[in-house]
Amino acid sequence: MVALRRRSKAEIQVRVAKFLSGIPVLIAAIALGAGGSRAAENGAGPACANQGALGVSRVVSLDTTAGLHVGLKTYPQTLALGDKEVVLTFDDGPLPGATDKVLDALKAECVRATFFLIGRNAQAHPALARREIAEGHSVGHHSWSHPYKTLRGIAPDAAIAEIEKGLAADQQAATGVAWTGGRPTTPFFRFPGFADTPAALKWLDAQNIATFGADVWASDWTEQTPQAELALLMKRLERSRGGIVLLHDTRKQTVAMIPAFLKALKQGGYKIVHLTPGATPPALKNAPPGWTSETEAILKNIMPGLANRTAGAAVPIRRTGE
Ligand SMILES: [Zn+2]
Repeated sequence: MVALRRRSKAEIQVRVAKFLSGIPVLIAAIALGAGGSRAAENGAGPACANQGALGVSRVVSLDTTAGLHVGLKTYPQTLALGDKEVVLTFDDGPLPGATDKVLDALKAECVRATFFLIGRNAQAHPALARREIAEGHSVGHHSWSHPYKTLRGIAPDAAIAEIEKGLAADQQAATGVAWTGGRPTTPFFRFPGFADTPAALKWLDAQNIATFGADVWASDWTEQTPQAELALLMKRLERSRGGIVLLHDTRKQTVAMIPAFLKALKQGGYKIVHLTPGATPPALKNAPPGWTSETEAILKNIMPGLANRTAGAAVPIRRTGE
């Protein structure tokens, strides 16, 4: 029971939700105390051995029934986080030599994040996807192949097929459980390049999958030093007072920046919020008056160019706010 008292109420609720079909496993995990190895095996994340770590301040177990569209860069609403609360998200992995270093850094600070995987990467590197789950992270979806034309630039049926194939590959790699339609184990999705379509959004909503944009990004698709990227991101976070942060665990400069970033978050008084699938209706806040979609403005500029490109050409989407 000592171990039980050390954990926050929210964390215990998550554990209970995850172990609905295995209460004895939960009890066994608690009995193991701070080691928590059984908990790690079952996806609830290991207990934190580092007392001075940044850690997770609270867990939000989102009910995604009927879908959800959040992130002010794209949508006029976002999660109602508190002042200086941050949700960390990483796109485009998993990638050996990069994702594993990000996981090491997160582990050292007992921080949990959401990874939006590219299906073919997950299929190629299932051990990394499994590690994300084992270490308590949430594994969301980011299409099968991240088409260079975006999902908006391909036929509507092909776009849905890209999403389906991706989440089937991600789920199989990360959990070993086949996706057979409907709501996946982790019903979180992010469009490549934020290029959503009405038809794909409608499909995601019908599967009870939440669609994530972002509130803050580090523009890490642009070449910059880790130091410059950190300075830019902290400046933006100061202005936004937190929010859903988009990074890429596939980008070398971002990988190099993460340890210093986590330190800066702690020093700056920021708190980490971890998102998991669950039963809590999301608390939302609306965009301020005069809001416009930043990603839509970017896409408007680049979509004509994408349509004219041929397959195999350089992938320009990296510069667009992906
Ligand atoms: Zn991406």
